[in-house]
Amino acid sequence: MIRWEIRRVIRHDVEYLANKVTCNKCGKSAEIKEGDASDIQFKLEEFPTIELGFGYGSKWDMERWSFNLCEECLETFVESFAHKPDGYGEDYY
Ligand SMILES: [Zn+2]
Repeated sequence: MIRWEIRRVIRHDVEYLANKVTCNKCGKSAEIKEGDASDIQFKLEEFPTIELGFGYGSKWDMERWSFNLCEECLETFVESFAHKPDGYGEDYY
């Protein structure tokens, strides 16, 4: 979950500023330094956003989900998989 606040409104254009990111599972959060683009990127990498969309007729018919997990919760989640995601545990550097 990313907390957004309105930074400024110019006519009909609204600019949003992310100031905090929170893990939806455990509630751990991190403040984002205002106006620091590298800090925003760094924090969003620590709390990856998972976005899902479900099709017509599925269990969650046409719902769209978006949530964030901290690295620990993401690792716990992935470790629970019978089949790990492609690329998991591979270091390309
Ligand atoms: Zn977490």
